[in-house]
Amino acid sequence: MTSILQTLSCADNYDPNSLHVDRARELILDLLSPVGGHERIFVRQALDRVLADDVISPIDVPSHDNSAMDGWALRSCDLAASGETRLKNIGTAFAGRAFAGIVGAGETVRIMTGAVLPPGVDCVAIQEVVRVEGDAVIIPPGQRREQNPRRAGEDLQAGRPAIPAGKKLRPAEIGIIASLGIGEVSVRRRVRVALFSTGDELCSIGTPLAEGAVYDSNRYTLWGMLTRLGCEVIDMGVVRDDPAALEAAFREAAGCADAIITSGGVSVGEADFIKRLMAQLGEVAFWKIAMKPGRPMAFGRIQPDGPERPGAWLFGLPGNPVAVMVTFYQFVLPAILKLAGVAPVKPVPAFPARCTEPMKKGPGRTEFQRGILFQDNGEWCVRPTGAQGSGVLRSMAEADCFIVLEHERGTVGAGDTVTVQLMTGLV
Ligand code: AMP
Ligand code: MG
Repeated sequence: MTSILQTLSCADNYDPNSLHVDRARELILDLLSPVGGHERIFVRQALDRVLADDVISPIDVPSHDNSAMDGWALRSCDLAASGETRLKNIGTAFAGRAFAGIVGAGETVRIMTGAVLPPGVDCVAIQEVVRVEGDAVIIPPGQRREQNPRRAGEDLQAGRPAIPAGKKLRPAEIGIIASLGIGEVSVRRRVRVALFSTGDELCSIGTPLAEGAVYDSNRYTLWGMLTRLGCEVIDMGVVRDDPAALEAAFREAAGCADAIITSGGVSVGEADFIKRLMAQLGEVAFWKIAMKPGRPMAFGRIQPDGPERPGAWLFGLPGNPVAVMVTFYQFVLPAILKLAGVAPVKPVPAFPARCTEPMKKGPGRTEFQRGILFQDNGEWCVRPTGAQGSGVLRSMAEADCFIVLEHERGTVGAGDTVTVQLMTGLV
């Protein structure tokens, strides 16, 4: 295996002391590859899992020519060149119960949505425009050939991929798999992530808060984000700022996980002893990312038993609770998707909104302010949540989006357009 630190130091635009957010994400994604291991599971259990192999359609969908609408099935060659067309009603085609006869010249059948089109029929006039007078069916002018039939194989063709490998299965894909009559699919195994918090000041819930201590919240936000991503989470608790305890924790984590996420201990004051430890246990780069919040971050591989042993990727996140979440969304989330086999890994969608309040910002770093979206006269607007300190977790809880102030951007005036990233999505 080539050295990670060497690969990084040879990369273009690599300045570990001032790394652009987008560049840091690219460097991480370039180094990672999906974890191995597949399992076959029932279609309902496959929700939110990542498809390991293409789903090949065993049938055409639809499997037969059928009507897209309730109406009257006819042969377009019977339509009058101008004016109304008078046809004879000879029966009805229901969904699941086809019309058994033949539609001949000057004839029509009443047809329901999803009913098989009788042979020779190439047009369905919708029922709303048709007049029925006893046995006679009056079709208005303006009808066309190939109007409203759904043709066999129009959606999916037998033998062709219906869903590509690498797709994270949402309800729509689960429905497609069912529409093909397939009951089991092959998915990639879940990514295993070990996490622990570092810091002598941290106190676990269930114990009284000592003088100067804080409750450990990072393990809970991280657990939540990883669980939502579909990871198998191995929670290793709080580890003291003590080299022996940290070494033991890293060894244990590297033995059982694909990735290790820690919070705290990468800021300037603490980095030196962690750096020495990391140099013994693997290859870890210490970055200062040009962003706020979340400047310090460690990234690399922990391989205490040497590069030949599997080991695990390390994401050493800062300690401040908001910085943890922001760095997770910007770097760890795409990394986990890549490890999980999701392909392609797309950036989080962003869109413009009008910012209703001014925000101070200097060029040279990307900022992720927490915002609240609202509509004003049909226009999407955003306002910051108030106190934006990287320790103010409430700013995340109140927010429904990030206001992304791009690297080169300066101060924002009230009414300026800004870029927002939604924190929520459809189920
Ligand atoms: P550090 O990056 O370790 O210097 O921590 C920065 C700040 O984040 C300090 O105020 C810590 O007390 C706080 N912090 C670190 N880890 C946690 C955690 N797990 N939960 C809540 N706050 C934390
Ligand atoms: Mg600390």
